[in-house]
Amino acid sequence: MNRLSLAALIWLLLAGAGVAALFMSARGQFTATFDTDARILHRVLSQRMEQQEAVLNAVDALEPGMDAAALAGYLDTLLRPYPQVVAVERCAAQGCRVLGTPAETPPALASTISPDPAVNWPEGGGPLYAVSRGNMRVWVDARRLTGALDSGAAPLTYTLFQPNSDIVIVAHTPKTAQASTTLRVAKVLGTALQPFTIRISRPVPWGAWPWLGGVLWSLLTAGLTALVWRLLDTRRAAQRALMDERARAGGVVQAVSEAIVALDDAHRVTLANPAARAALAHPLPPGTDLRAVTAFQATLSQAPFNAASFWDSPGPVALPEGLTLLRNGEAVQVEGALTPLRGTDGELRGRVLTLREVGPLQRRMLEHLEDGERRVREHEDMLAHVSRLSTLGEMGAGLAHELNQPLTAIVSYGQAAARLLDEPEPDLARVRHAVGASVTQAVRAAQIIIRLRQWVRRAPSRARPTDLVQAVQNVLTLCRADLNRLGVSVVTAYADAPLIQADPVQLEQIILNLLRNALDAVQDTPDPVIELSIVLEAGGWKLSVLDNGPGIAAEVATRLFTPFTTSKAGGLGLGLSMSQTLAQGMGGDLSGANAGAGGAVFTLSLPRLVQEAASG
Ligand code: ADP
Repeated sequence: MNRLSLAALIWLLLAGAGVAALFMSARGQFTATFDTDARILHRVLSQRMEQQEAVLNAVDALEPGMDAAALAGYLDTLLRPYPQVVAVERCAAQGCRVLGTPAETPPALASTISPDPAVNWPEGGGPLYAVSRGNMRVWVDARRLTGALDSGAAPLTYTLFQPNSDIVIVAHTPKTAQASTTLRVAKVLGTALQPFTIRISRPVPWGAWPWLGGVLWSLLTAGLTALVWRLLDTRRAAQRALMDERARAGGVVQAVSEAIVALDDAHRVTLANPAARAALAHPLPPGTDLRAVTAFQATLSQAPFNAASFWDSPGPVALPEGLTLLRNGEAVQVEGALTPLRGTDGELRGRVLTLREVGPLQRRMLEHLEDGERRVREHEDMLAHVSRLSTLGEMGAGLAHELNQPLTAIVSYGQAAARLLDEPEPDLARVRHAVGASVTQAVRAAQIIIRLRQWVRRAPSRARPTDLVQAVQNVLTLCRADLNRLGVSVVTAYADAPLIQADPVQLEQIILNLLRNALDAVQDTPDPVIELSIVLEAGGWKLSVLDNGPGIAAEVATRLFTPFTTSKAGGLGLGLSMSQTLAQGMGGDLSGANAGAGGAVFTLSLPRLVQEAASG
């Protein structure tokens, strides 16, 4: 059944019950009035019957001593108050004779004189009948019995019957409107001589019922039902909205990772989310006193935790920073707050406790951070490895190039020593110098090979605080012979204590490459000059190697640092590319350009050592 038909049914029941009650009450009234009227009628008729009998008794008593004329004159007076008595007859054996002037002419009736009183019915019935006693007979017109009673607003219909018979004496049927129902009663008149049956009825016309009242009641109940229904509907919608809202809020509370516990005004749990049950290691059923299952503990460095003032705080209060929560014997660092909930009247309704474990959050963040760093490191290592492998081929050729110099030097020192020893008086000091120099070159060659192997194997470079000036000096010493041979002027300008974090052998290799290229460049220059300078700039140390050679050839200028770029007949084109790779490995870089006054300048930039940078 849908809700509308339910409302209609309720209205029907209400309206029906009311209308039924109205009509029942009306019917009760009709019946009561009818009963009263019927009783009155019965009494009146019974009295009239007794009047007739009294008249009869009177005339019977008078008759023997009075003549007819005197009796007739007396009758006029006697009968005046009794209009229903229409004639009086005196009977003898020859027949009956009317005395005086009758109001109606009585019908002929067989003489049935008897000492006992009796009712005599004319032949063929009719409204006239006689009551007789001895010689006297009193005629009654039943139509005149109730003449005065019909003045009532609701007339009665009645029918008088002869005793124990269906023979109608008189029927009184006033004109009435169409009847909706008829009230009826049958009685026997209360006289000894004329116990006639009277059937009284009253039709109830349609218009007598409380139609207007019924309609008004139905309208009223319809209006009331609609109103109540509307109110209920509104309430139901509001309730549904409230439930929805509550479900949504509940869902949110259940979903959040923060522990949330709602309490009533006596700190008893009304709601706890899964995070709260986990944080407190307690199922927290509703009604639990939260103070009894929550143990906060201050650390030694903190002021003692005042639980009473925390739990009963009148306003929002946060847990002191660094506070721990005892859980299964373990102290867990937490943060959170207790917030009072007040009704619109400002009265305290309850509280909400929120808790968050600080440890896991910090740990998770650290783990994320470390994880990220590790991944970046691995990635960088991988890139470096790949890049080293890709240059492995170029390294092979580079190795030959790098070893060529020391090997050539060893060969020439060896030849020189042999030549000196062949002399008749060998100069042993010079021989020792030549042998020593060739040993130095051999050691250097070995170091190059070792370094290269380590580099390819992803061996970490042996970076350590290194003096850039010292490295330059070492390289100049190595190249001294060639510089002298070509008559090159070396100009140096060094800043103070240029310390860098670098592997010294790699650093010297870079410088050696630059110096050797400069030497190659100035080979045909009339007054060859090579300038070496070390300056401190914002980005770090800059070592420049400037020569006054012909400058960088146009065909190689754009790919100086690409492997196998060379303009020399016997060149491999690997020195610069390898040097740049090494410089970048140290956190620096290598660049080259033509100098303004002709010649070329190559600049090695290297970051400052951190300690040194901090101190100066
Ligand atoms: P290689 O010396 O075997 O040719 P490098 O990588 O050392 O290989 O040098 C590459 C090229 O860069 C040289 O061939 C030369 O053309 C050019 N170059 C290097 N240094 C200078 C310089 N100081 N002056 C002019 N050109 C230079």
